[in-house]
Amino acid sequence: MNKIKNKFDLSRRSFLKMCGIVGGSVVLGGCGNEGLEEDTATDSIINVDEGIEIIPTAGTNNCGGRCVIKAHVKDGVVVRLSTDDEPDDPKSPQVRACVRGRSYRKTVFHPDRLKYPMKRVGKRGEGEFERITWEEAIDIIASETKRIKEEYGPASRFVHYASGVSATIRGNTLCQRLLALDGGHLGYYNSYSTACTAQATPYTYGTSSTGNTPDDWVNSKLIILWGHNPAESIFGTTLYHLRRAKEAGVKIIVVDPRYSDTAIAFADEWVPILPGTDNAVMDAMAYVMITENLHDEDFLNKYTVGFDGEHMPEGIDGKESYKSYVLGEADGIPKTPEWAEKISKTPAETIIKLAREYATTKPAALIQGWGPQRNAHGEQIVRGATVLATMTGNVGINGGWASGAGNAGRQSIPSVPIPENPFPGKIPVFLWTDAIVRGTEMGAKDGVTGVDKLPSNIKLIYNLAGNTLLNQHSDCNKTAEILKDESKVEFIVVSDIFMTPSAKFADILLPANSMFERNNITTPWNSGDFVVYANKVVDPPFECKFEYEWLIEVADRLGIREEFTEGKETIEDWCKWIVEGIKNNHPEFPSYEEFKARGIYKWTYDEPLVAFKAQIEDPENNPFPTPSGKIEIFSKRLYDMKNPAEIPAVPKYISSWEGPEDPLTKKYPLQCIGHHTKRRCHSTHDNNPWAEEVEAQSIWINTQDAEARGIQNGQMVKVFNDRGVVILPAKVTTRIMPGVTSMPQGAWYDPDKDGIDRRGNINTLTSHKPTPLAKGNPQHTNLVEIESI
Ligand code: SF4
Repeated sequence: MNKIKNKFDLSRRSFLKMCGIVGGSVVLGGCGNEGLEEDTATDSIINVDEGIEIIPTAGTNNCGGRCVIKAHVKDGVVVRLSTDDEPDDPKSPQVRACVRGRSYRKTVFHPDRLKYPMKRVGKRGEGEFERITWEEAIDIIASETKRIKEEYGPASRFVHYASGVSATIRGNTLCQRLLALDGGHLGYYNSYSTACTAQATPYTYGTSSTGNTPDDWVNSKLIILWGHNPAESIFGTTLYHLRRAKEAGVKIIVVDPRYSDTAIAFADEWVPILPGTDNAVMDAMAYVMITENLHDEDFLNKYTVGFDGEHMPEGIDGKESYKSYVLGEADGIPKTPEWAEKISKTPAETIIKLAREYATTKPAALIQGWGPQRNAHGEQIVRGATVLATMTGNVGINGGWASGAGNAGRQSIPSVPIPENPFPGKIPVFLWTDAIVRGTEMGAKDGVTGVDKLPSNIKLIYNLAGNTLLNQHSDCNKTAEILKDESKVEFIVVSDIFMTPSAKFADILLPANSMFERNNITTPWNSGDFVVYANKVVDPPFECKFEYEWLIEVADRLGIREEFTEGKETIEDWCKWIVEGIKNNHPEFPSYEEFKARGIYKWTYDEPLVAFKAQIEDPENNPFPTPSGKIEIFSKRLYDMKNPAEIPAVPKYISSWEGPEDPLTKKYPLQCIGHHTKRRCHSTHDNNPWAEEVEAQSIWINTQDAEARGIQNGQMVKVFNDRGVVILPAKVTTRIMPGVTSMPQGAWYDPDKDGIDRRGNINTLTSHKPTPLAKGNPQHTNLVEIESI
């Protein structure tokens, strides 16, 4: 067998030939990518008007989009990509591709694609593999899956959370189905995107479905985007509706440590704020509203508990109320704008103006992004904003926004069913490395649900199309040490299209097909009333397979093939089943063939959906789904946890570890956050050369901080803390506030022989320490120092 280190000795030209690309053209057009040229693979320019077939497909990365992609195919070669060109109107906006989608070909037809099944031959993590057959790979996977179940029990088997395939049919959920049918596996809850908001929002409202649909934004008079950057992360049709609101004269304020692309595109005002100090500013806004009598007292009295001493749950002292906290009656510290300025570096007069404007401009929508809650005390930020929305009476009305998680789905579509897991235990997903090292010690205090204690540590991991096995998890250096130890996790299967940092830790590494090489169905993350059919555009190259194909064979060896497939041997069989399911709820939905040919179906509505409209209009008959039936500014459930310093019953500013007040700032004076960049979907497309032209990896640093360190724009710098060292170029800019640096998240961790990451992965610097309540990932809570080199 050939020994293979990281990639095959196959040239780019040979790869493209085998994919049927060389000899075709690579003409760009209609995609807004002028200036991006195809490289040496281009032999000639063909006439794009002749013999072109246009196949509708879709983006199925884990971005917030899911856009229409039209693949222009000639003689089996993708010669061009274009996007949605259906009529654009408020009830049915276009679903147009972003800059990533327009450069998909450079990812999909990349010469570094994995090509054959492989088995590890070096030490785990070194990235040395040898080619094996699919039969051998499936035999090994099936026998290890059996062995580990017999030795350690089903709860020792873990299907990793992440997937770069954000479609209805995807490897990680198919694998959960397989293991559920085979006796069970360790379950998880939460995500790396929304752990704190998913857990904390229901303590206020009883649900996470707190958003109006974005077609309602045109009804606002003021929109505050608090740590929300949809211009780069893309949430369905969000940008269309923001633009519509702006054109209608709605004022837009962006609160963010960075002057983000969203701020550039939409903001009338930018309010800089130090990361993790959001609650100080929110508390001071509440102080202004209370002391200037701007809050909506009637609304608070009617719909809430816990705002003031007169409206507390039975048996709870009035001093525990939010008002009492804000005025400093309990702790002697009034939460004044001047108090908040010292903490947040947001000027007191800006806080006062923001508070007055939000309280007196009605309706107004304070829309939180997910970034601020990926913070050491992210739960507080979520609940703080819900209280402001409540104090201003902006809940349950057109043009308002209840804040919190902001989910606003109007319809859901079926996905491949996952049977009930015979093992009921679940961990908060961020603690999976803990479950490798000390799983049997983990119980309720670690957020374990369903069982008192885990019966086993994790011994087997299926990691399918995901990069959270290493790259997207915190503290890459520590994670790598845990994974290298073969006495801990005994077997790791990875399926991917590239040798990612996570793939290097595989024992068996399988070549997946790409989104252009299979059929699938998908919907956007959180908003957008559409469903997209992602047609297969070309055949998979080499021996690449979709996970379902080989999971069926594993199921066969485990003796559960029929239960696993239910007679559906192909993905297309499941696609047809999904469309049937949609049609059950929506008889107007087109036939399978029509949907596949058109590529997208858009629902239209006469009115926006408004969260909690029924609760506000008729509270007697529609209580909030909380224990009290009201909006719980004070949560008795949180109070009963008896951990007021970290899990207070009313939202509070908590001075956090590695926050701006931590004494560690003497050693590491800069706060380091990560941001979503328009050139990647998490870590997908990091190796796309066109994406690199869009935005090269660099760390943002304010001009003053750079000057103090003698750092020039574009210069290589060393970013470090006790967890790791990263070397990358500096972007010196006034678009980030002093004291804060930001490294676009998702770059592929690339340690040199000294363990210094040379690509710029922020998770070299982040921590495994979870948030107190949700046990979420605090990946924007980091102190660092930067030096010029
Ligand atoms: S990356 Fe996401 S937002 Fe961009 S084109 Fe693809 S699906 Fe759309």
